[in-house]
Amino acid sequence: MNEVSPIVAASSEAFDVQRVREDFPALHQDVHGKPLVYLDSAATTLKPQSVIDAVDEVYARDCANIHRAVHLLSQRATARFEEAREKVRAFLNASKKTEIVFTRGTTEAINLVSHSWGRSSLREGDEVLVTELEHHSNIVPWQILCQQTGAKLVVVPMTDRGEVLREAFENKLSERTRLVAMAHVSNALGTVLPVSELIALAHERGALVLLDGAQAVSHVDVDVQALDCDFYAFSGHKLYGPTGIGVLYGKERLLDKMPPYQGGGDMIRSVTFEETIYNDLPYKFEAGTPHIAGAVGLGAAIDYFSSFDAELIHAHENAVLHYATEALKAVPGLRLIGTAPGKVAALSFLMESAHPHDIGTIVDAEGVAIRTGHHCAQPVMEHFGIAATARASLGMYNSRDDIDALVAALRKVRELFG
Ligand code: PLP
Repeated sequence: MNEVSPIVAASSEAFDVQRVREDFPALHQDVHGKPLVYLDSAATTLKPQSVIDAVDEVYARDCANIHRAVHLLSQRATARFEEAREKVRAFLNASKKTEIVFTRGTTEAINLVSHSWGRSSLREGDEVLVTELEHHSNIVPWQILCQQTGAKLVVVPMTDRGEVLREAFENKLSERTRLVAMAHVSNALGTVLPVSELIALAHERGALVLLDGAQAVSHVDVDVQALDCDFYAFSGHKLYGPTGIGVLYGKERLLDKMPPYQGGGDMIRSVTFEETIYNDLPYKFEAGTPHIAGAVGLGAAIDYFSSFDAELIHAHENAVLHYATEALKAVPGLRLIGTAPGKVAALSFLMESAHPHDIGTIVDAEGVAIRTGHHCAQPVMEHFGIAATARASLGMYNSRDDIDALVAALRKVRELFG
């Protein structure tokens, strides 16, 4: 990994991580009689008190269905839900609120595009391009789509450091590529893909681009207009918000032409047995009662995140990542998986004599929560000829002390397994 720059180091010091930790109640508990060290934010981030309060308040005070009734509670709930949409719009720098569709999460957002855009647009012989480092959520929906339409799934290989290089990408792009679906940041490896450059290449060939932003939103700046991506998907629970709520951003001119994904209440303007007229964007894609408290909680998470200078958060995390990388490299018999320059937030690793699940169990007994397994990225594991890794991943609340605790716990693994 690259040296941490003096600017990053200085801004990291300007970030008061101890103060931030006070905002996250889940951090203040013991597990197995030890203070919790949470290093699994790539799976889900912990929630600040303000998000918990916002969700609580919806159920305690503004508990009503939205867009439907004239009574005051419903008006308040509707206003809060739509305010949350505006917060998401501003966070992604989308030009219009109509481009923000609430979903259950990244997975549903990707499935929405594959069902709606994919089934209405793809023909036999068309190609969908993904990369080798995708999460299963950004592979399986396209596989199903290809099986149903006769289109072909094409895979851009990654390097042994876990990078997706321009040349490899260009080699796989063709006149038949209709859509590129790729991660902005890899969950298993922490690689940040050079998405601006790759989007421009895809557009030159007339292909649309969907970015899976699940791991990006809390670690890199996202500006959908500057990126010029056609679709962007993310989950609230990886941005310090609730589970069960996520977002699909789509360019209005594309969403407008796409057929509904699901039918039901709220997505219609009028229904007769002969004909249904669909609602305007974004409601056309929001059938049924949505996760109202979840959307409000996501809005509160965006408020919380935006109350900091994002540059300071990123610099702090990068400094902790650098510290962790050096500390883990010094553990005898430990091998890092995923060493792309400029990577963020996640450290996958193996130890010579211990299976990742044993590592996870032993460090858990020391109070350290990490993830073990294939991380829903089995093709990544296949690339490295392994079945699983142990993965420590960072959030804004992690400090060097957490890394010291992890390394101490890994020493126990070595004592037990040699
Ligand atoms: N894509 C990536 C890169 C992820 O890391 C994840 C979750 O870990 C997902 C997609 C799926 O997110 P969700 O389960 O919130 O829909």
